[in-house]
Amino acid sequence: MLLPLVPMCTEASTSVSAAKAEKTVYVCTGPNAKRYHYSKKCSGLGRCSCEIKKMSKAQAIKNGWSTGCQKCT
Ligand SMILES: [Zn+2]
Repeated sequence: MLLPLVPMCTEASTSVSAAKAEKTVYVCTGPNAKRYHYSKKCSGLGRCSCEIKKMSKAQAIKNGWSTGCQKCT
């Protein structure tokens, strides 16, 4: 009966790999977030209802954020 409005956040593994040359990106773990961002202050992340996670670009793509943000590239 009592279903709290908890957003479905994506579980992403953020373990830092050895790929240090890889660019670091930020992603929103919200259910509608499909883009990775180069800037943590991007307006696209400002509306995030879940957690903003920092990871390598390769990890972001592997976890489902397959498109780069148009605003902060
Ligand atoms: Zn962005």
